[in-house]
Amino acid sequence: MKMPTRSMLFAALLAAFPLSKALSQDRFADVEVTATSIKGSVHMLTGMGGNIGVSAGEDGVLIIDDQFAPLAEKIATALGQLGSDKPKYIINTHYHGDHTGSNAFFHSHTGATIFAHENVRIRLANDEKIKPEALPAVTYEDGIKIHFNGETVHVIHLPVGHTDGDSVVWFEQPDVLHTGDLFFNGMFPYIDQGAGGNVEGYMESVKHLLNKIDDDTVIIPGHGKISNKAEYTAFLAMIDETFNYVKALKQAGKTLDEVKATGLDEKWADWSWSFINEEKWITTLYNDA
Ligand SMILES: [Zn+2]
Repeated sequence: MKMPTRSMLFAALLAAFPLSKALSQDRFADVEVTATSIKGSVHMLTGMGGNIGVSAGEDGVLIIDDQFAPLAEKIATALGQLGSDKPKYIINTHYHGDHTGSNAFFHSHTGATIFAHENVRIRLANDEKIKPEALPAVTYEDGIKIHFNGETVHVIHLPVGHTDGDSVVWFEQPDVLHTGDLFFNGMFPYIDQGAGGNVEGYMESVKHLLNKIDDDTVIIPGHGKISNKAEYTAFLAMIDETFNYVKALKQAGKTLDEVKATGLDEKWADWSWSFINEEKWITTLYNDA
């Protein structure tokens, strides 16, 4: 019998120890950060976490959200290919870690100035795991306009939606809207009811944005593929219909468990995803119904 080679032994070891263990130790190792050109100076980066909006041009690089800390160097590399790996400005659409995770890296390594609604700074500052350098240096109540790369970058705060510190970013001239997590394209949204978000406020915010845009507007959603007004309208209709449905059951005296057991109409099955499945969405709706 032939002696087993080292590579055979290695293969046997791999088979014996499930890969999932190794993967869970570094779920970011295989994530690729890739850029898509949108319109004008605007690009989008995708990796893991919220979609990153980018303005790249003569004035340098501005980014909207920055995903998770372990992806910071990959994000910097992708930005370098668009002109500079040192963003001047960062806008946080809200405080969640999949949108603010690389704040500290970019502030420390590139001196980026971070902008966000006041409540984003308060929520991050109250989290002892967040380093001081990750905190937004410039905060606002209602919004701010940044004139950058020949475009007006209009940052608009919307009260009580996904959280109590939501901002969207509208590039007025190329007509591109980054919604932050006020849009999960084709998916049930996460609404952070423990951080000031609620279903009715979320719908109000979406309605407000739909009134601002038209069929030519390109939408970068917080999560999911590049989108448009028609898809955003369908997203609002889904929330509205499922909310009214759950509200009617609650008012008829059904408990949360009974509503979960009944379930939503079959036509919403595709909106369920790993983080917000049907049961979780029903729970969110029921809480505010
Ligand atoms: Zn979020």
